[in-house]
Amino acid sequence: MAYAPFDLKGKVALVTGGNRGIGLGMARALAQAGADVVIWGTDAARNLAAEGELDRLGVRVLAQRVDVADEAAVVAAIAEAAAALGRIDAVFANAGIGGGAKSFSEMGADLWRKVMSVNLEGAFFTCREACRHMVERAKAGDPGGSIVVTASLAGIEGAARNEAYAATKGGVIAMMKSIAVEHARFGVRANAILPGWIATDMTAGAQASPAFAQKVLPRVPMRRWGEPEDFGGIAVYLASDASRYHSGDSFVIDGGYAVF
Ligand code: NDP
Repeated sequence: MAYAPFDLKGKVALVTGGNRGIGLGMARALAQAGADVVIWGTDAARNLAAEGELDRLGVRVLAQRVDVADEAAVVAAIAEAAAALGRIDAVFANAGIGGGAKSFSEMGADLWRKVMSVNLEGAFFTCREACRHMVERAKAGDPGGSIVVTASLAGIEGAARNEAYAATKGGVIAMMKSIAVEHARFGVRANAILPGWIATDMTAGAQASPAFAQKVLPRVPMRRWGEPEDFGGIAVYLASDASRYHSGDSFVIDGGYAVF
């Protein structure tokens, strides 16, 4: 028999922030590997466009308009998704926003709280509801599941003028490790993905900056921006049985930037 642990047929994956950027790159690969896919975003038009694209891959697709910072909305949406598709096997808490300021001294509390509410509280609500679902399922005799947070290199290296953002990303890594230990007994594993410089709407400013092209890009050993498609492989691995003994880890996907 062929070795096929990456086959996701019969599994359901939820990707928050799955209507564009890194999240859509992951959702596409998950669907291509056979998973039914749930995507979340706040923008109805983007949700619709991504849902249509994923639908054409021949799997079941559900797009939900959810603000991850809204606890009640997250609770309701996970329950609705689990009911609609029968189960949820892998959850990617990927939705996020940037939060750059002119300087740390000038960083306002409003900006700090906004970034915390989406990147950290949003990931908390998402992962907590995912864990509740997976623990209940395990107690009913069907253990297993994969929790994945999209962090950032900023979560381990910091990011100047982006202290709020960096703090949220460090926070989700610590939360992920805690989830991994607590939920292993239910067959649930948890891991983090740490992207480097990826060409998405979030980095539009840097992509247009000649200074960035001159000073930063040459420090990326792969000599190019990362693409959303570069996250397909890790998403499929983490959703699949190929990673069934892999938990509590952080995957740096940055073209070698962090070690150069
Ligand atoms: P994009 O700006 O391209 O996409 C962000 C996604 O998150 C969109 O789908 C957006 O949907 C969704 N989103 C934003 N706010 C909310 C919210 N409150 N509730 C639900 N969904 C929301 O960003 P990326 O794809 O680049 O970023 C994805 C993740 O990767 C983020 O967590 C980011 O911090 C992280 N990352 C990105 C890096 C990069 O270089 N691009 C580097 C390191 C980490 P909608 O617009 O519909 O709300």
